[in-house]
Amino acid sequence: MIAPASLDLGQAMYELMAELYPICRSITGDGLRQTLSIIQKNIPLAIHEVPTGTPVFDWTVPKEWNIHDAYVKNSHGERVIDFHKSNLHVVNYSVPVRARMGVKALKEHLHTLPDYPDWIPYRTSYYKESWGFCLSHREWLELKDGEYEVCIDSTLDDGNLSYGECYLKGRREDEVLISCHACHPSLCNDNLSGIALAVFLAKHLAGVSLEYSYRFLFIPGTIGAITWLARNRESVSKIKHGLVLANLGDPGRLTYKKSRRGNAEIDSAVMHVLKHSEQDYEVIDFVPYGYDERQYCSPGFNLPVGCLSRTPWGRFPEYHTSADNLDLVRPAALADSLAKCSMIVNLLENNGKYINQNPYCEPQLGKRGLYHAQGGKTEVKDGELAMFWLLNLSDGTHSLLDIAERAGLHFDRVEEVSQTLVEHGLLKACA
Ligand SMILES: [Zn+2]
Repeated sequence: MIAPASLDLGQAMYELMAELYPICRSITGDGLRQTLSIIQKNIPLAIHEVPTGTPVFDWTVPKEWNIHDAYVKNSHGERVIDFHKSNLHVVNYSVPVRARMGVKALKEHLHTLPDYPDWIPYRTSYYKESWGFCLSHREWLELKDGEYEVCIDSTLDDGNLSYGECYLKGRREDEVLISCHACHPSLCNDNLSGIALAVFLAKHLAGVSLEYSYRFLFIPGTIGAITWLARNRESVSKIKHGLVLANLGDPGRLTYKKSRRGNAEIDSAVMHVLKHSEQDYEVIDFVPYGYDERQYCSPGFNLPVGCLSRTPWGRFPEYHTSADNLDLVRPAALADSLAKCSMIVNLLENNGKYINQNPYCEPQLGKRGLYHAQGGKTEVKDGELAMFWLLNLSDGTHSLLDIAERAGLHFDRVEEVSQTLVEHGLLKACA
């Protein structure tokens, strides 16, 4: 499998994000459905609808939220806050409101960022029925005394929670889970970059022969993962490796947050790829907050699921503001993130265990043409080093990645040499 890394793919991911950017998404509702139907144009996607009120572990699927319009008009009838200019202007999940009020009462429902006076904050109120508007601090300062007309034309009714699932069947029932949240409105790095990465990784994998089966989830954050886990409780043991994808479009270095287990194969695989990338990167230990790895790694499941990001959530100032827009994300960063994801998948796909068929002393490599003819040289080339390590550690317990790590060599080199040794009858793959 070749890792796709071209800038064309980065540009294509960026264009998908640009198409999805204007949609007002939430944890339920038509914006989420519209997003899933655009994803469905790119990859095979099953869209599931789970009714309001469905119990999912300690939670309940909430009422469905939809919004058509929202504004605050001044006494001249001018829209001083307008949902149609930015969907971030409305606190996501605001209950419907039609009222007139003075500026003091209005300001109790307004949210701004005084430190970034030109940016609109992103706020939600999913589980407490309330309403509010978000605006730039500069606009807030311009609000004069007088009466304002407030309208939030939203609905909060019994409906469904929607999520998308793309399943790619491999030779094995064992699965690799790739999960991303799809519930944020016009925010790019946090939300859309993970979607774009997952879509293009699925597109790539749909066209190749696979060892593992792959399950891609496009779900609303928290409640979506909880709902999916509640509905699939019996089959999650098939998940052997998993990654949550988020914040993969900014130009910062890659960051990997380990699974709760900390020593799962996915942890070793991602760290190996990052270590050999010759780029700066960071690895952080599991913490029980962040994205949906929190649910997959809750103690009852403890699945081997880590989280791959570039700059992690909360560590870039644009996070959860209107400045997390199409200018923050770059095609080159998206392409690099996709290349790393492909390398990780490639490693998992090929990380077999082998048995040395000639384990009593070293086999004579020279007569097989596997070793340089002249003795006495001091340097041992990577290929030969890989051969010695493979022959020594291929006892059915060490994977190729274990051997690459012990040898200090790139996985691809070790994997390539293992195939040569298989061809010469010196190694045999474990069943
Ligand atoms: Zn977020």
